[in-house]
Amino acid sequence: MIDYIDRNHVLRENDKAVKPSESKICMFCGSNENITKEHMIPRWVFSGSTNAFFTVNLNGLDQSYNKATIPACAKCNAELLNDLEKTIQGLFENRDVSTDPFEWNETQYIIRWLELIDYKFQIFNITRKFLVPKNAEKVDYLMDFPLYMLLQNKDYSPFQVLSAIRRSLKRLSVAKKYNHLNSLVVFKTSNKGFHFFHTIDEFIFLEFPKHQIALFYFFKQEFETTGEAHDAAMEIIKKVY
Ligand SMILES: [Zn+2]
Repeated sequence: MIDYIDRNHVLRENDKAVKPSESKICMFCGSNENITKEHMIPRWVFSGSTNAFFTVNLNGLDQSYNKATIPACAKCNAELLNDLEKTIQGLFENRDVSTDPFEWNETQYIIRWLELIDYKFQIFNITRKFLVPKNAEKVDYLMDFPLYMLLQNKDYSPFQVLSAIRRSLKRLSVAKKYNHLNSLVVFKTSNKGFHFFHTIDEFIFLEFPKHQIALFYFFKQEFETTGEAHDAAMEIIKKVY
């Protein structure tokens, strides 16, 4: 997979990007059979805002993420991705997180799901030749809900991009998330809008108005207590909004 990405999306010749030459493969298992399109953020997350879409302008490139997809084979789509979606939806349904917090096994599912989103964005960004701006950039929203996408300030050399994808894949392959249970902060929210921001390989914030739940997750950082993670998350949220 990493080699495929390198050959088709990273490789440069004479200081120019090389055109992808191989047919699409599943970005989850590497198969080239029955390739389907996998959405970056599943549609149910936007439920309630039927015409919700969000556009991010990065370096002059408009990208509508709710239409954005990456290739996944039918098998991974059904067995890996859809199953997890259903599990997550089940956890959120009719749940008051202030009186009924997620248990550790439920937390592990949520972490895995967020890690998958991070991985999908990494793949998307590299396959679309996204040019990552040097500084995080505030975006204007077309619709009535705000979105802030942070794709920040990393000096993305090809080597670093591939290392980040490798790290992301490695994270996904670890089934037990014990060390990271404190890295997930769960809020009860009364906000009506869908909010989202994400810094690849660092953290993600997602708000689900229908379920009155917001999640903040640190992909790498570990915490002694959830309180410490909460404080760190709040500091970042305050900076963004
Ligand atoms: Zn697959």
